[in-house]
Amino acid sequence: MEKSNRRRVILFPLPVQGCINPMIQLAKILHSRGFSITLIHTRFNAPKASSHPLFTFLQIQDGLSETETITDDNTLLFTLLNRGCETPFRECLTKLLQYTDSETEEHKEKISCLIHDSGWIFTESVAKSLKLPRLVLNGYSISFFCSHFVLPSIRREEYLLLQGSEKDDQAQEFPPLRKKDILRILGEKRELLEPYLNTIFQTTKSSSGIISMSCEELEQDSLSHAREDFKLPMFAIGPSHSNFPASSSSLFTQDETCIPWLDKQQDKSVIYVSFGSLAKMSRTELIEIAWGLSNSDQPFLLVVRVGLVNGTIPQELLERLNEKGKIVKWAPQQEVLKHRAVGGFFTHNGWNSVVESVCEGVPMICLPFIWDQFLNARFVSEVWRVGMHLENRIERNEIERAIRSLFLGNEGEAIRERMKLLKEKVERSVKQNGSAYRSLDHLVDHISSF
Ligand code: UDP
Repeated sequence: MEKSNRRRVILFPLPVQGCINPMIQLAKILHSRGFSITLIHTRFNAPKASSHPLFTFLQIQDGLSETETITDDNTLLFTLLNRGCETPFRECLTKLLQYTDSETEEHKEKISCLIHDSGWIFTESVAKSLKLPRLVLNGYSISFFCSHFVLPSIRREEYLLLQGSEKDDQAQEFPPLRKKDILRILGEKRELLEPYLNTIFQTTKSSSGIISMSCEELEQDSLSHAREDFKLPMFAIGPSHSNFPASSSSLFTQDETCIPWLDKQQDKSVIYVSFGSLAKMSRTELIEIAWGLSNSDQPFLLVVRVGLVNGTIPQELLERLNEKGKIVKWAPQQEVLKHRAVGGFFTHNGWNSVVESVCEGVPMICLPFIWDQFLNARFVSEVWRVGMHLENRIERNEIERAIRSLFLGNEGEAIRERMKLLKEKVERSVKQNGSAYRSLDHLVDHISSF
């Protein structure tokens, strides 16, 4: 494609690892289909521009103070970011569009559209005033995205009164979540949730389409519901991790020494343990996990991210455990999951981690901590049945039992079989003529039509 005929797409991710990775992945996909890419990002958690020399990166101010950047409350963080970024984003985009209208060679490309994370809620008015078409990237599963708007209307007080096994019943408002999952999802701080979710819903409804890193093979029913609910073009372009890995968009320094360590392990013998970029646990919980891993007698690769543990990390214990396994602060996860030595993934079930695991055919042990992770864990353990659920029992014997059962038991064997089939289905989906591939073609046509 001649440079002057190229179209440019503006991408705007939320500044958290789980949103930056799919956005960079989307950038790589669209670039491979002939689009130029400009990525507007905040100062907070800025992606490494040097890892992506083919894209243009533009940084805007976000107005966050140091203390605000370390809050545990994501709704608060996203609300503050939306407040702080509106004006800088508007100015940045206005300037970009003015350049494009100018006659200089360098800026001859037409800007086709803006693609932003669903969590940016001021983008509707900005894009409208600049007459720029806008698509929304949904970083969750389609199921969670469509249903999570009901969360503010659920009365937590009623759920708090539940007794014993009632907590295990399915939540009518949000299947296949259990009632106990709803309680954990809702937490205590809810004042900001309702207005934020309502605006996300409106901002999405008024967009020109929704893009999801999922596919019909994973979420067929939810995809049909989403089409009915939103009455918008839906692009389920699939998890294309093997073709377009997102590892280069890591906000943390990846410890590559785990790859030569994995090289020394037997095929499918290692349990990889990571809880993503946001989950937090107590020191006692980490100690239970560490002992559970050690007692399982399976080699393990454990990620203990800075900030994972509330309180001091039990260093001596971890050093002692280093003899049986390997502990790192951040792993090149996609490379790890692809490695022949990895036979299981003990995970928090962030959506990216789940689809990365499915793409590599690695069965899971589920320990969700926050938000959509609870629904993803139910899909893994009860809908696709490609993993086991710990039901939040962070206790060394339970963890040992789950690992042994996954690696050595009959249940583990059945799970591996189902995972193999699911992986193959998803692989077919992203290949030429598969459903995700066709959806990507439609997305490219849609963007080109603007
Ligand atoms: N990740 C990684 N190394 C790690 C842990 C996670 O590269 O040690 C990556 C992982 O591959 C995924 C992202 O970080 O792409 C985490 O996203 P996810 O949605 O799973 O969880 P979140 O961090 O949003 O809770």
